[in-house]
Amino acid sequence: MGEMIRKKWKCKVCEEEIVSYSNTRHQMDVCMCGASAVDLEEHYLRTMGRVEFICTEKLNENNKWEDLTIKTENDEKPKRDSIWRRFKSYITR
Ligand SMILES: [Zn+2]
Repeated sequence: MGEMIRKKWKCKVCEEEIVSYSNTRHQMDVCMCGASAVDLEEHYLRTMGRVEFICTEKLNENNKWEDLTIKTENDEKPKRDSIWRRFKSYITR
């Protein structure tokens, strides 16, 4: 067996939150209003309707769910930039 992945997603129409698992073959997870669906397999992902992904997790060797979601923290990059700017102004002084 390969990696076990699960994805949490939400239907943007009815706002139901659903977890899809990669070990289910040819199974569509459909939300309660029927507008959105996700078919997740190990190397395959199909979405229908208005799906919003919340997070992706992987089952690691310790049988724990590990968050794979790449967090794009808005305040991280500007902070680094301002440190670099400060550093640059320091060395050019
Ligand atoms: Zn729905």
